[in-house]
Formats: sequence, structure tokens, C-alpha cells
Amino acid sequence: MTHQLLLLPGDGIGPEIIHEAERVIQTLTRTHGLSVELERGLIGGAAYEAEGDPLPERTLALAKAADAVLFGAVGGPQWDTIARDKRPERGLLRIRAGLDLFANLRPATLAPELAEASSLRPELVAGLDIMIVRELTGGIYFGQPREQAADRAYNTMVYSRAEVERIARRAFEIARLRGRRLCSVDKANVLEVSEFWRETVTAVSADYPDVELSHMYVDNAAMQLVRAPKQFDVIVTGNLFGDVLSDIAAMLTGSIGMLPSASLNEQSRGLYEPVHGSAPDIAGQDKANPLATILSLAMLLRYSLGETTMAEAVEAAVGQVLADGLRTADLHQPGTTPVGTAAMGDAVIRALEKTAH
Ligand code: NAD
Repeated sequence: MTHQLLLLPGDGIGPEIIHEAERVIQTLTRTHGLSVELERGLIGGAAYEAEGDPLPERTLALAKAADAVLFGAVGGPQWDTIARDKRPERGLLRIRAGLDLFANLRPATLAPELAEASSLRPELVAGLDIMIVRELTGGIYFGQPREQAADRAYNTMVYSRAEVERIARRAFEIARLRGRRLCSVDKANVLEVSEFWRETVTAVSADYPDVELSHMYVDNAAMQLVRAPKQFDVIVTGNLFGDVLSDIAAMLTGSIGMLPSASLNEQSRGLYEPVHGSAPDIAGQDKANPLATILSLAMLLRYSLGETTMAEAVEAAVGQVLADGLRTADLHQPGTTPVGTAAMGDAVIRALEKTAH
């Protein structure tokens, strides 16, 4: 079956890192039997310059027609002073809303070779492999009513049963693809909305008897993530708590150039992107680490295309280049081999070719 993929390079280092991911896709078609049709679209500052809009109609239409979108990064200082609704970042927010991406997946994994980069002791994080599933389109960020008045302001944290059920189901299904343990994080000792969340997730768990469900308060979860992060497999939580916990988990790995992410809709179509931004300070200098984008491609293969074997092959190839001691500047440690963006891409491709059938 031929999959439809849309590449959105964006700004800054976006085109360089997407180029390396595209070469990995081409390798997979040559050596692992991947069948894809690739489209390419404009987004962010690049789209604003070309068409006066950070998300042109054509780009959104291509994204809606695609099985999955691989996104680089948007933004840069040259667009920081233009009208807010024309800014590059607005293009990303609009495409997320346009595709109804309600489930945000943020893995935090740490190759044993990179354990020294973490702010925690290596033995606490070496081999870390957790997945945070954050509800992305509901909760306090979107709840009505909301208001800022002269002497007070408020927001509303609201979740409907349907919203909690669909994120819970997605999290249980992801847990099934991994270690079959799901921890739901809330503040049910204080908030009614969290009590409702807990009851709803518990009710959904009846359909997933093979997954072990536990519950944790968010303050404890934040503490446990830095005390003993390897106790977790999959965490599911609401928009606000997930925003904070996924950044804590990201920092456990210590290297922003390594972190992929995915946002999925009901049809398991999705947008895949590195967690980092457009890094204008190093753009166009062959310095960017392409691995977060290549690992985002692995997530795309797993979660939107169902190509699990290929996803594992890409992840193994990334593991191999790290084990071989190759490091872009953001990861460089004494005793390793410094490489640029393109050489890192070359090395991943060579490792991938070795696993061809
Ligand atoms: P950033 O993530 O772009 O950069 C932070 C630091 O990390 C910089 O020193 C950068 O050089 C480094 N870095 C980031 N990615 C790297 C990589 N792959 N390899 C090596 N080093 C890397 O964050 P910022 O500096 O706060 O923002 C820069 C621009 O990116 C802004 O315009 C911001 O709005 C935008 N941004 C976009 C996204 C996105 O597109 N999803 C996310 C965050 C920020």
C-alpha cells in the first residue's frame, strides 16, 4: 500500500533536518520496501514570505489529504515584529487545530551512551524509555468561560466524557504497543474535573484488561519523574499537567536535538515533529542535529503508517550511530567523533542499509 506523506520543512534549520529525514525515507523505499508518495508544502516564515500567510490553504489541504505530516520547525527573529496572526508559529497552531490533533505523544528515551548529558545521575536515566500522552485540545487552555478583568481573572478547566475517553483509549492502545503499564496523572484530591477524569479513565480500563492502570497526583508525578523516572511506561494526562510533565521528562534526556514528538487525531493521522525550534543561531551551518527529526519519522512509521518493523529499524540505526561515537555539536563529549548534519544523516543511512532484507 502506498502511503501519502507531506513534508513541511519550515524555517531556520527546518529544511536541513527535513532533508536528512527525506534521505532516510528514500533509503527505506530502496532497502525496506516502503511505498510512499511525497508531497512538500510551505509553512511558517517561508510561507509568509511566499504567500503572505504562515499556513496557506494549499498546505492545509495537502495535510488533510496526507496519511501523515513530517514537520521541521518554524520561526525566526525576522518575523518577531510582524502582526501576530501572520507570525510563523501561528501557522503551526493553525495546522494542529485544522487536523484536530487531540493526542500529543512525547517520548523521553535516553540511549545509554548519552546518559552523561542528563542533569540526573546516569544510573537513574540510562536506558530511560517513557511515553507521555498529553490531551492537547481541551482542558484549561481552551475552557469557557475565561476572562481577564481589571481586578480579577479566571480560566475554566473543563473535560467532557468524550474527550477523556478518546485520550484514554489512545493511551491504552499505545501502552499495548509497549510495556502495558499506564499511569493516569490528575489532581483528583482537589479538583472535581480530575475526579471525573479518574473515574472515566478507570471505566475505559475495563476494555483493556491486559494493561495495568495506576493513578498518581500530578505533584507526586513531577517528583517521581526526577526521583526514579524509569518506574514509568506510559503516562496519560490533561493538557496543563501534560505541558509541564512533558518538559520535565524532556530535560531528563538532556539533549533537545534528540527529542521527537507526535500529535494524532481520531483517524491516527498525525503531525510529527522534533521538540526543538528552528535554531536560527545555527541555521545553514551544517551544525543541526537531525536525529530528533529522524526519530519523529520513526514515530510516524509506527503510529500513522503501522510500519512497526521499519520504525524499529530506524531507531536501531540511530542507536548504532550513537554507539559508534558520532555526535553533532549539541551532544559532543570528550572521546567522541564530531560530525555535521549531513554526515550524521549519512551514518544513519549506512546503519539502516545494513538491516535491509
Ligand atoms: P530552539 O529550540 O530553536 O533553540 C534553542 C537552542 O537549542 C539553540 O541554542 C539552538 O541552537 C539549539 N538547538 C535546537 N535544535 C537543535 C538541533 N536540532 N541541533 C542542535 N542544536 C539545536 O528554541 P528558541 O531559540 O527558543 O527559538 C528559536 C525559534 O524557534 C523562535 O522563532 C521560536 O519561536 C521557534 N520555535 C519553534 C518551534 C516549532 O517550530 N515547533 C518550537 C520552539 C521554538
